[in-house]
Amino acid sequence: MNKNFTFTDKLKTMADTKKLGFGTKAIHAGQEPDPTTGAIMTPIFQTSTYTQASPGSHKGYAYARGKNPTRTALEKCLAELEGAKYGLCFSSGMGATDAVMKLLRPGDEVITGDDLYGGSFRMFTKVFANFGIKYHFIDMKDANNIKKYVNEKTKMIWVETPTNPTMQIIDMDACAKIAKEHKLILAVDNTFASPYLQNPLKHGADIVMHSVTKYLGGHSDVIMGALCLSNEELYTQLAFIHNSCGATPGPMDSFLVLRGLKTLHIRMERHCFNGRKVAEFLKTHPKIDKLYWPGFPDSPNHDIAKRQMRDFGGMISFSIKGGSQEEAFRIASKVKVFSLAESLGGVESLINHPASMTHASIPKEDRDKAGVVESLLRLSVGIEDIDDLIEDLKQALS
Ligand SMILES: *Cc1c(COP(=O)(O)O)cnc(C)c1O
Repeated sequence: MNKNFTFTDKLKTMADTKKLGFGTKAIHAGQEPDPTTGAIMTPIFQTSTYTQASPGSHKGYAYARGKNPTRTALEKCLAELEGAKYGLCFSSGMGATDAVMKLLRPGDEVITGDDLYGGSFRMFTKVFANFGIKYHFIDMKDANNIKKYVNEKTKMIWVETPTNPTMQIIDMDACAKIAKEHKLILAVDNTFASPYLQNPLKHGADIVMHSVTKYLGGHSDVIMGALCLSNEELYTQLAFIHNSCGATPGPMDSFLVLRGLKTLHIRMERHCFNGRKVAEFLKTHPKIDKLYWPGFPDSPNHDIAKRQMRDFGGMISFSIKGGSQEEAFRIASKVKVFSLAESLGGVESLINHPASMTHASIPKEDRDKAGVVESLLRLSVGIEDIDDLIEDLKQALS
């Protein structure tokens, strides 16, 4: 930790002797008072280029696609939160995933889950499949399943946990064991958990991917992605792709995320608290058929969730008894505190109909197999007052 001077000098001396807590890191990591004024907040370096006294004399900052100080502060903060050496920020989560896939060559194979973020599925099947990369979409609830698909062409395992939208928990330690044995890259989309709830690198992952748009930004006002990793060779390749392909975010967005991160730990505490209350309310509701939330003792892979996550988060999905899309639409339109919208992880509560919204790009047959049925609704439980959220769901379900 702190090899990269990620804290102010004063905090660094403390961090050298003692492991700083998550909240302290979220507020301070990567950020030093501005040397010219002492401004406590990292300035928004709204510049595309940097002057040089003589050709090549710059201090690492030559052109802002490659590097921007506001972005650097954010990348260091995110790396620290994931327990990684390096962070790279992208102009969207998909931009970050795109960079990871560009590590591959035609003929390479990837093993991934059958319950993925719809946009990832679309990118894999409609973009990278055209470049000769083959994807196996498999049930990963039992990680041993992965072994059946490993061959000499396999290069990567791409995991999402908890999955979207059915909140399956995938055993990262077991995936890492298989990846190590066969020299595969293990990449984990950690968007749903955020670094507050789990750190995939500590479970043997090589690359952590985030849609920063969600919990990290936390205020539904930024689109951004990130990769965090500690392997220097992979970092060198990804940093090259990052600069060469150019999906890098601007300084204003980097500033907004730095600001959002300062409350990540307290927002997550409330997301988890509210999530539990909503899940408990839905569990006994007569209209609910299947309920997906990893925090119940009888939830699938609950023991694994307990091992690899600090808490269970604010993402919940449920299907309606009778299975009708009309009823799901009716509920989604009747909510008042919840808003009907795609996305998740912001302070405000959202409801989403995956089959017609976030997961519409997945064929119905595959959706049904993964439990993404027509009556499924997904909640991103925000940090409003819990009584108002429960009251709202009660009236919408009635
Ligand atoms: C939103 C999301 C993405 C894509 O991120 P963008 O920032 O929207 O590009 C990827 N994975 C998961 C799990 C997501 O929820």
